[in-house]
This record gives sequence, structure tokens and C-alpha cells, in this order.
Amino acid sequence: MRIGVVAVQGDVREHLRALGRLGIEAVPVLKPVHLEGVKGLVFPGGESTAIWRLLKWSGLVEPIEELHREGIPIFGTCAGMVLLAKEIVNWPERFFGFIDIAVERNASGRQVDSFETELEVKAIGRVPAVFIRAPYIRRVGPGVEILAEHEGAPVMAREGRVLVASFHPELTDDLRVYELFLKMCA
Ligand code: GLN
Repeated sequence: MRIGVVAVQGDVREHLRALGRLGIEAVPVLKPVHLEGVKGLVFPGGESTAIWRLLKWSGLVEPIEELHREGIPIFGTCAGMVLLAKEIVNWPERFFGFIDIAVERNASGRQVDSFETELEVKAIGRVPAVFIRAPYIRRVGPGVEILAEHEGAPVMAREGRVLVASFHPELTDDLRVYELFLKMCA
């Protein structure tokens, strides 16, 4: 199964490696042609505003919207979650808006406040989770299923074929969050 990883900015290599460990053909997506044949798409952590600008510059925004319309599953981690959210409460723009949540950018604090914890993830169990300037979910629409919370704020959610997580599964050895996404893609 071929899975694309948006590769214009962010911790792309870590996602490619994690998917590779699961035997997946993970392809870096830098231009529209790289989306051919993908059965799922991953947005990495990084800087959402920079990723958005580079996606526009690379002509990737419309092809990704088309992929979403076709029902291809999409998974966004951290900055990726910000890119997929319908609303950003502390930022004037919004980006793809594929999932009916409102997020607060950088809600977990500054880079120096990064931390690792364990979360109880629905249908998976306890999972190690790294938070780096992470967005927290402040509102969820009626169709959104909350999969994990941290200190009362939702940090992982799913709506239809869109999965988002505030934390970075690519930075730990635990691959079960990817397995959950890959089940959506199969
Ligand atoms: N704060 C970043 C943003 O909103 C996300 C940080 C991250 O991906 N680790 O784009």
C-alpha cells in the first residue's frame, strides 16, 4: 500500500521511517505527481503556516482537496492537525478545514515546554505521546469522535476519513497510531 507524506516542510523523515517499519511504501509528496496512487496521506508536524505557503507554491492545495473529495484518508499530526482543522481560534486564517474542530495553536506551550506523556487512546490503549508546541482541540462538531484527551482537552480525534493528533507518533517506537490510520486506508 502506498501512503504519501506531505514533504514540503516538517519532520517528514520520521514519518517515512515509521511507515517504512510497518512495511508501507511511504512516498514524500513535494509535487502533485507524487500523489498518484496513494491510499492515504500524512501531514507531519512542523510549522503549519510555512507548510501552507509551500503547498500553495507547489500547486498541491487543489490536488489534496481533490484527494479528500475522493475519500482518501488523511492523517495530520501537530502542525498537520492545524492544517486540517475547520477553525483556528488564535489565528486569522484557516487552511484545509477537512475536520470539524476548532484548535488553539501552540496551546501546550513554547518549544522549551515540550514534554512526553502517556495517553489512553480509544481502541488502542496507553500510548506514549510527545507534545511540541502542540495544538489542543477547543471545540468538536457533532460528527467528530474524540479518541484521546490530555488534561481535559481533546488531543486526538477522527471524523470520517480524517484523523488528527496533537502529538507526534513518529517520534516514538510505538506504531499503533499508524496502524489505526492504515486500517482506515485499507
Ligand atoms: N505550533 C506549530 C504550528 O502551529 C506546530 C508545532 C509542531 O508541529 N510540533 O504550526
